[in-house]
Amino acid sequence: IGKLDFKVLITDPVDQYMIRTLQNNGLIVDYKPEITREELLKIIDQYQVLIVRSRTKVDKEIIRYGVNLKIIARAGIGLDNIDTEEASKRNIKIVYAPGASTDSAAELTIGLLIAAARKLYDSMNMAKGGIFKKIEGIELAGKTIGIVGFGRIGTKVAKVCKALDMNVIAYDVINIKEKANIVGVRVAESLEELLKNSDVITFHVTVGKDAKPILNKDTFNYIKDNAIIINTSRAVVIDGKALLEYIDKKHLTYATDVLWNEPPKEDWEIKLLRHERVIVTTHIGAQTKEAQHRVAVVTTDNLITALKEIGVL
Ligand code: NAD
Repeated sequence: IGKLDFKVLITDPVDQYMIRTLQNNGLIVDYKPEITREELLKIIDQYQVLIVRSRTKVDKEIIRYGVNLKIIARAGIGLDNIDTEEASKRNIKIVYAPGASTDSAAELTIGLLIAAARKLYDSMNMAKGGIFKKIEGIELAGKTIGIVGFGRIGTKVAKVCKALDMNVIAYDVINIKEKANIVGVRVAESLEELLKNSDVITFHVTVGKDAKPILNKDTFNYIKDNAIIINTSRAVVIDGKALLEYIDKKHLTYATDVLWNEPPKEDWEIKLLRHERVIVTTHIGAQTKEAQHRVAVVTTDNLITALKEIGVL
């Protein structure tokens, strides 16, 4: 198969750099950032490469309809919107951009941390409404933050929290002792230990498409009253219905960049969204000029390498 027969379909908004570079390499690129699922199912069989971000769900059905697919590229880091198992059965290569949005996602996490601790959302809302009432928050220095998932973003968040004079503990499913030592972070022996000892808990784990919630009806019991929970990873790490129950039981605050459905559609999700101690951003963790450009460059590089490997370029 030569490159003239090789067609690329992009179904989510991506940086122009990606489109230009692929075209400069002689590939035919169709850019349809707002395509519906129905339309995608109709045309996917004409393409060898599919490029998505997080909006397009590349499930079994899409992959089955994509009879000519050779590569799926995710312009970003999470692969939870792609059925990677089905892709590998078909020998479809997956490329993505690990690390490209680490700093942006970590910075947003710190933003949510301070917003939750100082009730910035309420204070700003009041000020805009002409109400100049003082509301009291908590100081972060001296508090303990538990980092669940000590990978790229978790590590960066830990470094900033150390600079804020917080006690930092981390928990991961892989051995993080050495890395934790370098950053000066204590490793929790178990998730239970982390949850019991943290005033703030922040999630930075990667999840697959069938991931089970880490915070559920059982594990919520370990969490301290008045704790702040931050989530810039994926909503599914928390059982949303259990959160709705425990947020009042334990007077928790939840600050998140990710929802189970974006926008939310279940009743319990909408209740959470409207809860007075829930603050939500619109999945903007990687949404900076710098991260989007980096994501485009890294994904394009990895895609071109993959195209060379299969002999198209
Ligand atoms: P990473 O792969 O560098 O680190 C993830 C860490 O989580 C790994 O060390 C892994 O061992 C650990 N882990 C996996 N399952 C775990 C579990 N059950 N318990 C404890 N630890 C577990 O990933 P990263 O680049 O730091 O990204 C972390 C998360 O942030 C991903 O879910 C990614 O999708 C998300 N993310 C979100 C945004 C956003 O827009 N909000 C932007 C970038 C990344």
